[in-house]
Amino acid sequence: MDLESAKAALLSKQQELMSRVERTHKHIYEKDEPVSAKFSEQATQMENAELVLALDEEGRMELNQIQHALARIENGNYFDCITCGKPIGEKRLEAIPFAEKCINCAD
Ligand SMILES: [Zn+2]
Repeated sequence: MDLESAKAALLSKQQELMSRVERTHKHIYEKDEPVSAKFSEQATQMENAELVLALDEEGRMELNQIQHALARIENGNYFDCITCGKPIGEKRLEAIPFAEKCINCAD
């Protein structure tokens, strides 16, 4: 895992999340969209909107983490745990490119 592939992985994940957040926003805020027949019950519509909001929040949190990771690449401390300063580990960063703590500190 070198910095270039880490950066590429982060940027493609960032792209994916940004388009997801955008779609989610459209879903929530464009009220003139025809309501799907599947969600004819008003209660079901409410639940659906809450689910979409939760996804939006999650997407935003992930985007934040990705931005932090990209900043750490720029600062040259991408591989270091932000808590203990030890290496996060290549395997862990390959699995979670925006991990900012080592496995011991993450819990
Ligand atoms: Zn640590």
